Amino acid sequence: MNLLKDKTLAIIGGGPSGLTLARLLQLKGANVKVYERDFNKNARVQGTILDLHFESGLKAIESAGLTNTFKDNYSPGADRARVVDENATLYYDKLNQESTGDFGDEWFRPEIERFALRKILLDSLQPDTVVWDSHIVSLENNTNAWKIFFENGSTATADIIIGADGANSKIRPFVTPIKPFYSGVTFLQCDVYSSEKKKIHDLLKDGKIMGYGDSRMLTIVTKNDGHLLFGASWKEDINWSKDRGIDFKDNKQVLEWFKKEYSNWDPIWHELFECEKYEFKPRPLYCMPLDQYWEAQSNITLLGDAAHLMPPFAGEGVNMAMLDALELSENLTNGEFTSLKSAIANYEKQMFARFAEIGKITMNNTEWMHSPDGLKKILLLIQSKTKNTTA
Ligand SMILES: Cc1cc2nc3c(=O)[nH]c(=O)nc-3n(C[C@H](O)[C@H](O)[C@H](O)COP(=O)(O)OP(=O)(O)OC[C@H]3O[C@@H](n4cnc5c(N)ncnc54)[C@H](O)[C@@H]3O)c2cc1C
Repeated sequence: MNLLKDKTLAIIGGGPSGLTLARLLQLKGANVKVYERDFNKNARVQGTILDLHFESGLKAIESAGLTNTFKDNYSPGADRARVVDENATLYYDKLNQESTGDFGDEWFRPEIERFALRKILLDSLQPDTVVWDSHIVSLENNTNAWKIFFENGSTATADIIIGADGANSKIRPFVTPIKPFYSGVTFLQCDVYSSEKKKIHDLLKDGKIMGYGDSRMLTIVTKNDGHLLFGASWKEDINWSKDRGIDFKDNKQVLEWFKKEYSNWDPIWHELFECEKYEFKPRPLYCMPLDQYWEAQSNITLLGDAAHLMPPFAGEGVNMAMLDALELSENLTNGEFTSLKSAIANYEKQMFARFAEIGKITMNNTEWMHSPDGLKKILLLIQSKTKNTTA
């Protein structure tokens, strides 16, 4: 039974989950629009490099027929990490190792910049699929269709709404009242430009640094254009960024805070803050309840962070988001369901079960990575994965 015949689908949000779903549904002939708040396709997509996993992100790319395009656009070698302690003493060095895998290997996790991932997904869509500058503010459920309201005063209609609008989803309240909880960890992210002369580059060597010490973390990656992106994370009060009176536009103030909070860390890290051009973003990290559940509806659902926001410490967010897209598209188009509600219910059942498991691992990681044993445990985890790769 073709559940999507004569139906219009509105995907809200053009992030990895929404665009992957649009591509997969278009391959099955569905009538899809993506409403995205960014002004156009060239809008800067910020954030870390993402590694895609064999059983989720890469599986969705393969089903979308985009593996070869992905191979042309990923960042080879960006997965080479160095694990250090607070004194920058090296404990694990993947930089000096031969490649431990290739496409098709279960443990091969190629990294791609967010902008590049968005571009390959966008380029795979039919012309005019994405309606840019469409910041959704609300929905109205009329008898036969949804009415969508945009910030700029315009409206649109659709039979089915897919909320793929990320952490602060405007669509989620139409599906469930369940709210995220604070994970206990805050993340301070910073893009560091004009950093070429920094000593930190000798340590980075165009790869990635993961620092663990004194119950705190520091990760640094090199982006394709050469600038650095770092994130400091530590256990903190939820209102830290508001209550401490730090002006995040002033790197000197942020450095003073770092010297106190990361007081046992070597001064080598201070140069990350001594830059000419920088952009600090504090983020308290949230997680959806691991046992969340809601009754399925026949014309609306959620995917990606809108469905199951979690902290980034298992590197699963984007992978789960893209696997959601794959599983939802399969449930909607495989002909096995007699109603939209049963197809959506089956997708949500799979998604709840997956998130209960992955969310638990993520929250465990969040805890131990910010505990006194963080370094010891990350080395044990790497050791166990290396054994699996060579087994
Ligand atoms: C600091 C940090 C580091 C991370 N590191 C990793 C990592 O290493 N590996 C990993 O797998 N995951 C990581 N994640 C998580 C990952 O970024 C997300 O899980 C993933 O991007 C989710 O994809 P999505 O499509 O669901 O949502 P998003 O990527 O958030 O995309 C949502 C889209 O919706 C649009 N939008 C939002 N609101 C509206 C609106 N009202 N109207 C219209 N459009 C709207 C946004 O502009 C955006 O394009 C990290 C997250 C953070 C915060």
